[in-house]
Amino acid sequence: MVLDGKGLAKKVLENVKAQIESTGLTPGLAVVIVGDNPASRVYVNNKKKDCAECGIKSEEFALPENAGEGKLLALIDELNNRKDIHGILVQLPLPVGYAQEKVIQAISPAKDVDAFHMLNVGRIFTGNYSFLPCTPAGVIELLDAYDIDPKGKHCVVVGHSNIVGKPMAMMLLHRHATVTICHIHTVDLASFTRQADILVCAVGKVNLITADMVKQGAVVIDVGINRKEGGGICGDVDYEAVSEKASYITPVPGGVGPMTRALLMRNTLEAAKNLN
Ligand code: NAP
Repeated sequence: MVLDGKGLAKKVLENVKAQIESTGLTPGLAVVIVGDNPASRVYVNNKKKDCAECGIKSEEFALPENAGEGKLLALIDELNNRKDIHGILVQLPLPVGYAQEKVIQAISPAKDVDAFHMLNVGRIFTGNYSFLPCTPAGVIELLDAYDIDPKGKHCVVVGHSNIVGKPMAMMLLHRHATVTICHIHTVDLASFTRQADILVCAVGKVNLITADMVKQGAVVIDVGINRKEGGGICGDVDYEAVSEKASYITPVPGGVGPMTRALLMRNTLEAAKNLN
């Protein structure tokens, strides 16, 4: 069965819109983009579109690639102090020469709607959080919507980045799953993925997960986004073959991606509620 992220994301956005209308809040999201990376431009445009759809005021701050870290940090400081801005998002990756980690840590944790700041990351570990990073939070939301309970299951997460793999593993642990994290140095990846009741792949490599690596009836979540030659995107999972074996599977596009976008809107609303 296909896990319909696109359909569920639409419901999340409708819910955010309804809450904004009923509370009378006007959440404000500052979207900061540095340089002219075409993929970043697409992501920023999508975020602005989502904001418009659910009643969040978005403001774009586009800096040229050579603006310099000082200018970017000064902008973040200004946004941290603005009462009408509740969420600050710096589109990553930043161009070469910018200390990405330093920039992330400059964002006020209360406005860190990506949940990348160290304070918010620490809160994910203790379970006492205001925001969760949008991609793993979107995955949990999808599982919940289809009554897939990670409790007692063996969840295997492939990829251990700070923004997807690690928080994903932690969130599954909070749901009482037994979690295995695999990465580039994992010896015999298939021996781990074959044990997964729930398999989450977040790597960025086409066909990394083939049907022989998946247990019959497993739930397969494909976070990967890979650009295909000639246009379009695909995930990390050999979708056609794996969907024959999986009980549930996310498509790419239409799975985790739309959920990530929707959860950013919800985080921005939550930030506005907390700051008001
Ligand atoms: P990342 O920072 O590049 O992390 C990729 C991870 O995969 C790393 O932990 C890496 O390990 C591991 N890895 C690389 N090759 C591997 C292999 N052959 N076997 C096992 N593990 C391997 O990327 P990310 O930001 O986490 O994103 C991962 C993918 O998800 C990308 O395709 C990205 O575009 C996509 N993504 C999608 C969404 C969405 O909304 N759907 C959101 C965010 C990201 P090492 O670090 O040890 O090399």
